[in-house]
Amino acid sequence: MEFPSAFVDNMRTLLSDECDAFLAALSSDTPVSVRVNDKLALFDDKMPVPWCPDGCYLPERPFFTKDPLFHAGAYYVQEASSMFLYQALRQCVSHDAVVLDLCAAPGGKSTLASQYLSHGLLVANEVVRSRAYILSENIQKWGNGNTVVCNNQPADFASSGVMFDAILVDAPCSGEGMFRKDEGAIAEWSPANVRMCAERQREILTAIWPALKEGGILVYSTCTFNREEDEENVNWIMEELGAEYVPLDIEEKWNITTYGEGYRFFPHKTQGEGLFMAVLSKTAPTSTHVRKIKNNKKSKSSVIPSELKKWLVGDFTLSSAGTFVRALPTAYAEIMESLIERMRVLSAGVKLAEQKGKSLIPQQGLALSKHINREAFSSVNLGLEDSLKYLRGEAMQLTDAPLGYVLLKYNELPIGWVKNLGNRSNNLYPNEWRIRKV
Ligand code: SAM
Repeated sequence: MEFPSAFVDNMRTLLSDECDAFLAALSSDTPVSVRVNDKLALFDDKMPVPWCPDGCYLPERPFFTKDPLFHAGAYYVQEASSMFLYQALRQCVSHDAVVLDLCAAPGGKSTLASQYLSHGLLVANEVVRSRAYILSENIQKWGNGNTVVCNNQPADFASSGVMFDAILVDAPCSGEGMFRKDEGAIAEWSPANVRMCAERQREILTAIWPALKEGGILVYSTCTFNREEDEENVNWIMEELGAEYVPLDIEEKWNITTYGEGYRFFPHKTQGEGLFMAVLSKTAPTSTHVRKIKNNKKSKSSVIPSELKKWLVGDFTLSSAGTFVRALPTAYAEIMESLIERMRVLSAGVKLAEQKGKSLIPQQGLALSKHINREAFSSVNLGLEDSLKYLRGEAMQLTDAPLGYVLLKYNELPIGWVKNLGNRSNNLYPNEWRIRKV
């Protein structure tokens, strides 16, 4: 693999004797790892990712598209270094916190955070609209109802009225840690691009800073190695925005490197991609006027059929969005409604049903939700070939299934809905999620 000479020079300055081992590792195959959802116990734990209890390495890369469990959200394919976020959350953020993942697509860190926040709320945001849809799909597959997916600019949050206990900024960066995964990152790399990225990161941080509570936690990360985007930006946050560095407990055998503030994952030392992560605590309030949350929207729950409540297990408030009904965890319904009113929200809570005349059509978000009351629906467990046929969007024929909406499962894990008409079944798997012929 050919790397830009200015990049090699920088890395030689940073790593001295270790640079050749680093460059060799950066040219070698990427390790494959997954993080398992609590929907299902899957892989054996012979090769755990040491810093994340749900993470494990796989001996080789399976054809994930051919595995219905992948589409059911039983696991997320995530490179191992990124799972270090678990340590930042475990050591600094409580399980009932309100957290914003500002740069969230495709959703690796968001799915981890939503699982960690067992009694909290995650707002997962992505500025690029097409990527925000992918984020929303991955969040729905993961199945936690404690999540809102937005497509907003960082500055929009400062005026939203919602203040966060923690904010994750997994910043767009020059991507040096991705060189072996994405040769495009090598072609785009230049010292000028590194400077531009460092500057953009400061703009993003400045814009989001007012939305972080005083004493709140910022987790700043990049997948690049240069100091400008990493330690220098952390020092800039402390001096210019007002924050204190929060050290984490790490084990020596994890082979993580530190140069002052922040934790670095180098591919020749840890099994994973390049990553930089630092945790900071906001020391002073931002002197801007933050609107108090006040919901003008009248609850429309009176027009929502009460039988929908039986479709879920847990404490949810139902809310309509046009002809659709979503279920919001009651503890966070007010904040979620406020975000729905003010931000470009793509999904919130559990997408439950569509009301068409007198019929209620169960939605894909419900099928994959951890909160579905499976007792409320007829279901059929499919084999591998039929599951793939379903995920391709083909018409299905179900023998011995009752007429009406039927929940399809693979390995007892829901994958979606069909409407059984007797001689055939209409496939309700969302068009945009369908897989191509495999
Ligand atoms: N956190 C994600 C995960 O773990 O799956 C990966 C995020 S990726 C490193 C950075 C994201 O920042 C991209 O999705 C990109 O579209 C988004 N982004 C680009 N420009 C941005 C900006 N000006 N403000 C906020 N986010 C931006």
